[in-house]
Amino acid sequence: MFGSVVVGLGIAGGVRIRDLLAPLPSSAAEKFTVKGFVSRRTMEDQQGVQQIPLEEALSRDDINVAFVCTENTSHEEHIRQFLEAGKHVCVEYPMTTNYSSAAALWELAQQKGLVLHEEHIELFTPDFKQLKKDIAGKQLEEGSLHFTGGPLKPGFGFPAFSGISRLTWLVDLFGELSVKAATLEEDEDRKYSKMTAHFLTKDQKPLSWIEERGPGMGRTKRINLRFDSCTLTELPAGQREAVGLFMQDMVLFGRKLQGDVPPEELQAEQRRILHCLQLAENIRQLCQSTAA
Ligand code: NAD
Repeated sequence: MFGSVVVGLGIAGGVRIRDLLAPLPSSAAEKFTVKGFVSRRTMEDQQGVQQIPLEEALSRDDINVAFVCTENTSHEEHIRQFLEAGKHVCVEYPMTTNYSSAAALWELAQQKGLVLHEEHIELFTPDFKQLKKDIAGKQLEEGSLHFTGGPLKPGFGFPAFSGISRLTWLVDLFGELSVKAATLEEDEDRKYSKMTAHFLTKDQKPLSWIEERGPGMGRTKRINLRFDSCTLTELPAGQREAVGLFMQDMVLFGRKLQGDVPPEELQAEQRRILHCLQLAENIRQLCQSTAA
């Protein structure tokens, strides 16, 4: 069994505790047992689980795993502390808010022989799974993905990082990309921001990603994908599954800890994660250079 702590008790942290307490039967998620949670606030027991100090979580021998669920800008520090202490880490995306620290953390995990897992629940959503099936075998000619949502709380980082799940969709669907241009329009007083990034696929087909946030903006994704044979302008409605998204992710993390995920799959995943973080860094740099 892997004794686990949940670090950061927001929405994601609460879901992690819930799933640790009721893992999917006969799955690798049953290998976790929750030992406590860590928070900067002093909190009462959560779902019957006790708060423990960070130092205790880092030093206890019966704690082998940390689920890092804090706001994005503090992921890096927590991942490093837990890896240094010899614990496996599952971190909610994005792993960090810059590329170089993510690369260094992978290296550290490898040196220590520990699993560093970045959650990507967006890849488990029914609409994504359906979209992937629907476009299999089709040749992209041109495409766009436009995300809108409400303003983020402080600490979630540059939009290319906080929105990395959208970028992950694009890379998972269309392969590695190169960034050609990127701009950021921001109005801090109105809490409004719009980031636009233009990519080319390996076949030199244009793809764009817009990440737009502001008060009252509904959480939606709009697509426009033109293929050789058809054009998709709406996300397909996939079949809802009985197993929750975070639980699917926990099963994957558990399988990694048990050595059940083939090395080729692990390598492909690590390559995709680092590629997306590198793209996010390139987008940030381009946005900053055009703003200067
Ligand atoms: P959140 O805003 O609910 O929590 C973020 C942090 O704020 C946590 O550390 C939490 O302890 C702290 N916090 C929350 N309420 C607080 C309060 N009242 N006072 C002081 N601190 C408080 O954010 P979240 O949605 O849980 O996101 C956490 C991480 O999970 C992020 O990295 C995010 O990108 C990722 N994530 C979230 C979801 C989701 O559906 N919520 C999905 C995928 C990834």
